[in-house]
Amino acid sequence: MKHKYERTTVSITKVRDEKIYEAVKAAVDLVGGMQRYVRKGAEVMLKPNLAYPYPPPATTDPRVVKAVVKLCFEAGASKVYIGDSSAYSCKKILGVGRWTNWDVIEKTGMAKVAEETGAVIVDFDEDEFVMTQIPDGVILQEAPIAKRMLETEVIINIPALKTHFETLVTLGLKNYHGILPDHYKVQWHKDEIMQKIIDLHKVVKTDLTILDGMVAMQGLGPRCGTNVQMDLIMASADMVSLDAVASEVMEIGADEVESIRIARMQGIGNGFMDNIDIVGEKLDDVKKKFDRPDVSIDGIYPDFQIIKGGPCVHCYGRTKIMLDDLLAENFPDNANVTNVFVGINPKQIPVEQIKGKALFIGDCAISTAANLRYALGDRAICVDGCPPIASVHRELDKLRAEQEKKK
Ligand code: SF4
Repeated sequence: MKHKYERTTVSITKVRDEKIYEAVKAAVDLVGGMQRYVRKGAEVMLKPNLAYPYPPPATTDPRVVKAVVKLCFEAGASKVYIGDSSAYSCKKILGVGRWTNWDVIEKTGMAKVAEETGAVIVDFDEDEFVMTQIPDGVILQEAPIAKRMLETEVIINIPALKTHFETLVTLGLKNYHGILPDHYKVQWHKDEIMQKIIDLHKVVKTDLTILDGMVAMQGLGPRCGTNVQMDLIMASADMVSLDAVASEVMEIGADEVESIRIARMQGIGNGFMDNIDIVGEKLDDVKKKFDRPDVSIDGIYPDFQIIKGGPCVHCYGRTKIMLDDLLAENFPDNANVTNVFVGINPKQIPVEQIKGKALFIGDCAISTAANLRYALGDRAICVDGCPPIASVHRELDKLRAEQEKKK
């Protein structure tokens, strides 16, 4: 196949004996060394995945970020920033949610990394977002983007290696969801999310991507999957190629991933496996078959009667997250939730058949099962939104508070 892109290079190194700095340095050296990307005196912005206040693989390993900070200073950087806006912290902007962005920065160990290395934390939620024109945007003609991502001379993206129940994988490309304010993240987390993020990549140019593949996540990523020990670091000047190789590491074909297909078609980067040179470890030696995200909810929650209309993947996934949380946190009697309605036109069973509370998950269920909701009165819990994101946390918090009161 004839390609419009030059051949690109992706490096893969193994972390041995916990020598993370050495593995990160080796991966970067294989794609030209840090001096190729960071000139003396340059300011550098590091964008790890700080989506949640949880340890890796939900977020980027702080030890990998620390190694990258060190490499940047060794190359002569005058300043190194570490910044992100977590997934739906929502507390500041929407008034709901369990954490602020700063909670995430502290709990993921990034504040400590900054303290130990001299890097500077940029809490995107507390900093500025600048409404930015996107001349080649397919969906977005403009977007509010974290100012530092636009203004810092060198950008280094440091994603984690994970599957994702909505986008199949979450790697370098998807990691830029965190450069938006919360209400945009919520609004956009449905149709065409990857096209919107690809549009962002048209105005935020990335110099280098370094993937933390120490412990990866398979299955119901980006938060609720299971861990896979991989001990890998990958690097590339071409983020799309890195995403392609990282997908293949998980035995997910690069061509299966929508974000990669769109990105290479729209000039973001190469990402064609037959046009990529892999250096360092061999792909065949490191790849592992990851569990794919599975959002099916039938037959696995005997504690709840789930009645589905025609939900899409977004509401399936969030139903799963909510029920898993209810069960994992061991609410007494599952907080008296007995029924779950999700999707368009779920069958409306007689109200007397509902013994406890009922969750109506997503705007589709809330609007099309309105009669049943009214009949249930305060036993109906509306997890609103399309998709319902912040409301999942809000309603779980309310249930938690009710349990506390009862104690
Ligand atoms: S509310 Fe409806 S359209 Fe929106 S995410 Fe849920 S099922 Fe999909």
